Amino acid sequence: MSSLDEALAPELERLQVGTLYRHVRRLEPADGPRAVLDGRSVLIFGSNDYLGLAREPRVVDAARKAAAEWGSGATGSRLTTGCFGLHADLEQEIAALKGTEDALLFGSGYLAAVGTIPALAGKGDLILSDALNHACLIDGCRLSRAEVRVYRHGDAAHARELLADGASFRRRLLVTDGVFSMDGDLAPLEALQEFCEETDTWLMVDDAHGTGVLGATGAGTAEHLGLSGQVPIQMGTLSKALGAEGGFIAGSRVLIDYLRNRARSFIFSTAPVPATVAAARAALRFVREEPERHTRLREISQRMRQSLRELGFQVPSGDTPIVPVIVGEASRALRLAEGLEERGVWVPAIRPPTVPEGTARLRVSLNASHTDADLERALAAFHALR
Ligand SMILES: *Cc1c(COP(=O)(O)O)cnc(C)c1O
Repeated sequence: MSSLDEALAPELERLQVGTLYRHVRRLEPADGPRAVLDGRSVLIFGSNDYLGLAREPRVVDAARKAAAEWGSGATGSRLTTGCFGLHADLEQEIAALKGTEDALLFGSGYLAAVGTIPALAGKGDLILSDALNHACLIDGCRLSRAEVRVYRHGDAAHARELLADGASFRRRLLVTDGVFSMDGDLAPLEALQEFCEETDTWLMVDDAHGTGVLGATGAGTAEHLGLSGQVPIQMGTLSKALGAEGGFIAGSRVLIDYLRNRARSFIFSTAPVPATVAAARAALRFVREEPERHTRLREISQRMRQSLRELGFQVPSGDTPIVPVIVGEASRALRLAEGLEERGVWVPAIRPPTVPEGTARLRVSLNASHTDADLERALAAFHALR
């Protein structure tokens, strides 16, 4: 064994003993919210394709046409050779959805976070961060070299406390998920926005799971909570409800122009491929023109929560298509996930370190293209494993 493998192998073994070892499952395509997994057709209750747009023929067709017209790759960073009209049009459409002056596209949501946070805060600045924020926000905070203070999950009063000596910092930034990805709950944006305004703290909301899903027009968590136009730094991804790939920041003309010049993950990384940009544009059209997809998603999410609870599972309340079934021990979560899979229902088990110790869970995600029969099948499988 090389010294490299020798150093790494014991760490892998430790993960296996603790049932925290992960491996990547190989899927083959099937119709709608289904896939073939190890030769077995399964219903997927774990994807982030909330509106069922990743497989919508008109979205796929837009991707195909863009590849034919613009080529398979973007050929460079946007600042050099990679800025196609297609990308600029998508940015305007994102800004329109979010109600901001402008928007900036990144290669992924992750890249949007790790580029934006260090561009806005550095040494001598303070960042307040929710304890359950997504890893990309955490990594963005670490890269920034600002002082980072973590407030208890969803606790605006605690965030305010941690800001007591905030005036001694040059800048203050508060970062939070809009919808928390492993719990499906919402940030207390109203309270956060209020004290951010009072204390001149910049508010950044990562709305990866809210965009296209929450709010009357699908604009996201801020719209859902009646705070349209009041979140100055709005981050999102094209990879969830929009079924494509890429991330973005929406905000004022000055913010976006600044990020174009300062966000390293924008400057030094190739622009998203034309096919994915075109797919996202087509998906946005569905968000604008087919609100019945939201309505369906909302309806089946509530039904799933309610029915799982009636079966005796521990399911927190919420407004989102992320329905966590809290089971506690990682080994129990794995056993349940295996049992569901044997019954043709694929739900991911989420274990530490993704979630805190003792709160391992199954994370059920709904998709607007799940039929009533799909829901029945999933519930029957849960019933059998109760
Ligand atoms: C998925 C996710 C991201 C990352 O987005 P990608 O486009 O997949 O890189 C960022 N933040 C949150 C809250 C997410 O759930």
